[in-house]
Amino acid sequence: MSTRHSTRVVKNAGVCTGFLTVETTKPCEFVDITDTVEEAVGKSGISSGTALIFSRHTTAAIVISEAEPGLLRDMECMLERLAPEDADYEHNAMARTIPDEPENGHAHLHHLLLGASETVPVLEGCLYLGTWQRILLAELDGPRPREIIVQITGVTA
Ligand code: ZN
Repeated sequence: MSTRHSTRVVKNAGVCTGFLTVETTKPCEFVDITDTVEEAVGKSGISSGTALIFSRHTTAAIVISEAEPGLLRDMECMLERLAPEDADYEHNAMARTIPDEPENGHAHLHHLLLGASETVPVLEGCLYLGTWQRILLAELDGPRPREIIVQITGVTA
């Protein structure tokens, strides 16, 4: 995968905050960040608790889904059907008056459907995901660098 991931963590008592940077490569894509989130959980030293995975953006979402390539394309097509990029959006009129502001009304509406965060249980120091569940960053107006927060709250013993 050409998408780059990086992470650093800040520990404070029973709370550990990881800062992930993901460089997306396409206008719309689902990037599997499960392994990077798992790495942050490992660095936290927290054995039992909760991991919040949060996107600090209004056009990049966090979802849990199966990461089968055909399904990921189906998800992209569903978003395009629900809010096509070339449709008319009031938000785009605002963008046309501000330098460097992208016309991305469709991306904000896609984000509204998907949401900014997911929460996953942490058990025995690992994400307690189901067999087919993966944590995906949904890039909706890329390519761009994206900042994802992974905040793990729990106990170390
Ligand atoms: Zn916008």
